[in-house]
Amino acid sequence: MNFLLPLTGSFAQPAAENPTVAMIEAAYRHHGLDWRYINVEVAPDDLADAVRGARAMGWRGFNCSIPHKVAVIDHLDGLGTSAEIIGAVNTIVRDGDRLIGENTDGRGFVAALKSVVDPAGKFVVLFGAGGAARAVAVEMALAGAARITVVNRTAGRGRAVVDLLNRRTDTQASYAPWDGTFVVPAGTDIVIHATSVGLYPDIDAMPDIDTDSLTPEMVVADGIHNPPLTRLLQAAKDRGCKTVDGLGMLVQQGVIGVKYWTGLDVDPQVMRQALLELNM
Ligand code: NDP
Repeated sequence: MNFLLPLTGSFAQPAAENPTVAMIEAAYRHHGLDWRYINVEVAPDDLADAVRGARAMGWRGFNCSIPHKVAVIDHLDGLGTSAEIIGAVNTIVRDGDRLIGENTDGRGFVAALKSVVDPAGKFVVLFGAGGAARAVAVEMALAGAARITVVNRTAGRGRAVVDLLNRRTDTQASYAPWDGTFVVPAGTDIVIHATSVGLYPDIDAMPDIDTDSLTPEMVVADGIHNPPLTRLLQAAKDRGCKTVDGLGMLVQQGVIGVKYWTGLDVDPQVMRQALLELNM
């Protein structure tokens, strides 16, 4: 018998409402992996000790969520390519004695999107310029999106994402102000909503987008996973658009994380089902 089980987990604050543990452990069980995923609340001042603890205990890897995604970088030994460009880490991978930071938020998004459309060569409108939007923007650019228009309420944050894309990737990025109902330009292929408007509990909130400007050739994706069917996605469906929900992003970033830690390709449906059963 071996009673020493491989450990993985998450460091965040708050941590109680983070459903990742349910999703990852469902995948471990389904694939017969006797691994554990431990959801831990870690305050900012304790992050250094928590990472040292994970090293000392031989954790195979862990996730970092709000507020540690940038701060954790100081405690790591290296960064993956896109994590370095994004400047934030959500997945830590052990490589021998080294801890390497990766960012799977945007890659999870792109993986979910690719079930409907390949971003290569596409014209993209991205709403938001926070942490999630930044990760999504960089990965969309690395996946070959031809043009990305970043629309954000606060111009400085929007322009910062645009500058990053133009400096570090081959996409053509531009900023568009969001100071009234935004009309999505004709010719747009992919519309991505990556702000927090419509996130539980404010599920009736709707980003200020002219839904009449959505046309059936457009794919509309929402980063919000709770609820999976946001008002924006419902409006897009009503207009005949194909849609991608935020659960897909959450699940696929988990799939990529588990692959890093265990080497196994886990079944995304098992993870999605585990999240749906939580009734969030
Ligand atoms: P941030 O706080 O970093 O960014 C929030 C973004 O939302 C900013 O662009 C902000 O604009 C915008 N915003 C907030 N309120 C409004 C408003 N009233 N009107 C217009 N814009 C607004 O958050 P994150 O980037 O970390 O998260 C954003 C969303 O992405 C959340 O809903 C989160 O749940 C989701 N997410 C989903 C993941 C998944 O796996 N499905 C993973 C990570 C995040 P401004 O700059 O002007 O303040």
